[in-house]
Amino acid sequence: MRGYVPTYSIISPAKLAEALDMLAQDNGAWKPFAGGTDLMVLLEAGRLPHKNYVNIWNLKELRGIEVTDNQITLGGLTTYTEVQNHPVLQQEFPMLCQAAKETGGIAIQNRGTLGGNIVNASPAADSPPALLAYDAELELVSKAGARRIPYSGFHSGYKQMDIRPEELLRAINLPRRTKGLTHYYRKVGTRKAQAISKVCFAAVAGVKDGEIDHVRIVLGSVAPIPLRCFKTEKVLHGQPLNGQTIAAAKQSLVDEISPIDDIRSTKDYRLQVSLNLLEDFLSHLR
Ligand SMILES: Cc1cc2nc3c(=O)[nH]c(=O)nc-3n(C[C@H](O)[C@H](O)[C@H](O)COP(=O)(O)OP(=O)(O)OC[C@H]3O[C@@H](n4cnc5c(N)ncnc54)[C@H](O)[C@@H]3O)c2cc1C
Repeated sequence: MRGYVPTYSIISPAKLAEALDMLAQDNGAWKPFAGGTDLMVLLEAGRLPHKNYVNIWNLKELRGIEVTDNQITLGGLTTYTEVQNHPVLQQEFPMLCQAAKETGGIAIQNRGTLGGNIVNASPAADSPPALLAYDAELELVSKAGARRIPYSGFHSGYKQMDIRPEELLRAINLPRRTKGLTHYYRKVGTRKAQAISKVCFAAVAGVKDGEIDHVRIVLGSVAPIPLRCFKTEKVLHGQPLNGQTIAAAKQSLVDEISPIDDIRSTKDYRLQVSLNLLEDFLSHLR
């Protein structure tokens, strides 16, 4: 049953400093509200947990995509539509554009944000695998100042992450080091649009002097968090691309992921699809 709207408060500060003041008050009583695409579902289901929200949608400090020589900085409020339309992202970060294209429908793409997708912390979310494979770094900001952390260390358990109640995810930084790499992204779901992933796979790698190089593999929906597969990457790094290497990587992936049976799929299906995608990715390496 829908939550009773008059029991909730929402304020709309015009400036980042005002928003951070609110978030710092009353021991985490106020929560950020960005596009609202996850939060409104909870409201409709009568499961919206907190009562007080800070609408951050109007904060210019969390908007925009900035390109420098070494990195691209995406404001936390960057929408999926903005991702898809950006020429440098299309050229250098195609997996992120593909994830954005396959997220929800057009209305969700216009309103849902990358920051909301990351902090909502669903293991089945579609942009985290691409962001993790691109070695993203997060910029968090609070009244006390800003801090930067590797995205790969952000999610620590189901819906657990390295963000404090008084912090906002201000931006996501992507290092521009994707030249020459093979990019491979697959969202496996019941249908193309409006489906939550059964398995999501994002990976990049290069081959240098016959050896696998710069390999980063990430899976969604097969663990309590979007999972960067460091152990399997290690098995592949510096190895020649042959049947033995592929077999060793597949064995490592079996040990590294922990898929479950749930309403969307089964453990066995998820495991088999993950192994098939790993093999297909490796067969695409050049
Ligand atoms: C019909 C439908 C289809 C969907 N399809 C997909 C899909 O295919 N793939 C997918 O991955 N997701 C999907 N989603 C989920 C959702 O759209 C995304 O997770 C979206 O990116 C959330 O962003 P938002 O700005 O709307 O977040 P909100 O709902 O505003 O917030 C989500 C959470 O993040 C926090 N938060 C938001 N922004 C910040 C910030 N900058 N700093 C700190 N905390 C913040 C909020 O407090 C809240 O806890 C779908 C949702 C719907 C309703």
